[in-house]
Amino acid sequence: MCQSCHVRADSTYRTARPGGTVGTSGEGAAGLTTHAPQAAHTVTLPGSLDEAVAALAAMPTAVPVAGGTDLMAAVNSGLLRPAALVGLGRINEIRGWQYQDGAALLGAGLTHARMGRPDFAAPTGDALPVLAALEASLVIAGPGGERREMPIGRLLAGLDMLRPGELIGYVRVPLLHAPQTFLKATGRTGPSRAIASVAVVLDPARRSVRCAVGAVAPMPLRPFDAERWVSSIIDWDGERTLAPDVLAAFGDYVATACIPDPPPAQSALDGTEPGTLPPAVLHLRRTVSTLARRALGRALA
Ligand SMILES: Cc1cc2nc3c(=O)[nH]c(=O)nc-3n(C[C@H](O)[C@H](O)[C@H](O)COP(=O)(O)OP(=O)(O)OC[C@H]3O[C@@H](n4cnc5c(N)ncnc54)[C@H](O)[C@@H]3O)c2cc1C
Repeated sequence: MCQSCHVRADSTYRTARPGGTVGTSGEGAAGLTTHAPQAAHTVTLPGSLDEAVAALAAMPTAVPVAGGTDLMAAVNSGLLRPAALVGLGRINEIRGWQYQDGAALLGAGLTHARMGRPDFAAPTGDALPVLAALEASLVIAGPGGERREMPIGRLLAGLDMLRPGELIGYVRVPLLHAPQTFLKATGRTGPSRAIASVAVVLDPARRSVRCAVGAVAPMPLRPFDAERWVSSIIDWDGERTLAPDVLAAFGDYVATACIPDPPPAQSALDGTEPGTLPPAVLHLRRTVSTLARRALGRALA
């Protein structure tokens, strides 16, 4: 059972077969046992990616569920009322990873625990900023066995969306053979959601530093100007080190790009001095600055 939700799916998962559909409403021991009145009435457990896409196409109101960490929290809090669920837990083809044409192809169902210690990404922590900084791409499965590939940045920026019935099948991560750093700040000790996170990736072949900032906005942010500036002053053929004041300037550049000063009209609304941020936002900006400075310093060390 997921730690953060209150749904027991044990009896369902013992009795359902791959490709089968499980009724969950008033079916006794064979059905999904749930304490969540908003839970879906149908759970389908396909055995392949194409079966999952077909199930979604057949039930346009169905929602895919992988580990359920986010989804069941939303169901239990009443924010989401899916009419049906398509469980992805039995699709073996998306639970692994492999090297392919200079990239690592990660299944959408691959967990950090199964990944072990791969050499292409941070083994723990929030994946989206890392994948954004790595400029990974998504392999998307669609109806009729169709596959299309999309840079992850397009999805994160809202320039492209998953179409009805589509599922993310794999994530393709280029192998850069260069240092990568991920740092996050949380509100308490131990594993928890980030209040801010920064991923920094060195790409010596393109002589570029890439950076993505997570948690301060609904999607990871890429501070392109800060990336270009710092990339232009690194001696890529030499020692690749930067002085502490340059690292600090990079941190401030990233933080100000991601958490900009408010426009004068916003200050009038907030009742703050023109051009100043509320203390909590200023603190967040300082946190991002520190994370970015340290992340780049460690990547270059
Ligand atoms: C209390 C709590 C603490 C958390 N702490 C952290 C943390 O420290 N670090 C961190 O990185 N994350 C954290 N998270 C976030 C969560 O663990 C991640 O978002 C995780 O990736 C969710 O994975 P899941 O398999 O459980 O997704 P699910 O909850 O099953 O699905 C999430 C969403 O993705 C959709 N979806 C699932 N699979 C696919 C697919 N193949 N194609 C298209 N759409 C799909 C679902 O429909 C749903 O909308 C936390 C969440 C909670 C509730």
